[in-house]
Amino acid sequence: MKFEDTYQHKGLRRKLVEKLKEKGIDNQAVLDAINHVPRHLFMDQAFLKFAYEDNAFPIDEGQTISQPYTVAYQTQLLHPRYHDQVLEIGTGSGYQACVLAELCKTVYTIERFRKLYIKSKNALKNMGYRNIKTFHGDGYQGLAAFAPYDKILVTAAASYVPVELKNQLKIGGQLVIPVGSDKGQIMHRITKLKNDDFLDETFSRFKFVPFQHGKVM
Ligand code: SAH
Repeated sequence: MKFEDTYQHKGLRRKLVEKLKEKGIDNQAVLDAINHVPRHLFMDQAFLKFAYEDNAFPIDEGQTISQPYTVAYQTQLLHPRYHDQVLEIGTGSGYQACVLAELCKTVYTIERFRKLYIKSKNALKNMGYRNIKTFHGDGYQGLAAFAPYDKILVTAAASYVPVELKNQLKIGGQLVIPVGSDKGQIMHRITKLKNDDFLDETFSRFKFVPFQHGKVM
């Protein structure tokens, strides 16, 4: 993939950031990250005019690149800090991983579809992100090898909160996960107060593609 980020792209991104501010995103570091990450490079070049609209967009395997507002909202809920080790479930295009990588120390990201894993791995490498580690696997298991994490972000719709993900949080760590049915989900932020003691806060309603079991070759 050719890395090209023109004044036109930058201008469109600034407008997108203004729109996200109007919609209530107020964490300046998150807005700066959105302003910095070239979302058009995660989509087919032919779709440039859609890249900076505040919409989800189809990618391979019937999945989607999340809506920028959703990416900003989930990222803001995670309170990203520069020394955080973050686990993302559902790499998809790799866009959300990049936004996190702008704000945190290391991002580990898992995707169940091999095709998306390969594509996002190459895209992230071409863009020069060295603090993102991509994995092909089943996010229901988390990623025990690098646990525990300061933050875990699930970018697919869960019907329940997998216990493995709670186990892989540090004390004081936080898990942001949309929980519900295929009709819609409520955003949850789960904070690990101590082992087996969690604070569960609920936020707005969203609609994600499903969090499905098993990895796909
Ligand atoms: N964060 C992505 C959003 C992708 S949509 C982005 O910024 O583009 C959610 C992704 O979660 C899809 O790619 C889907 O394949 C993936 N997914 C669903 N269930 C999963 C699982 N069990 N493990 C890993 N990834 C999963």
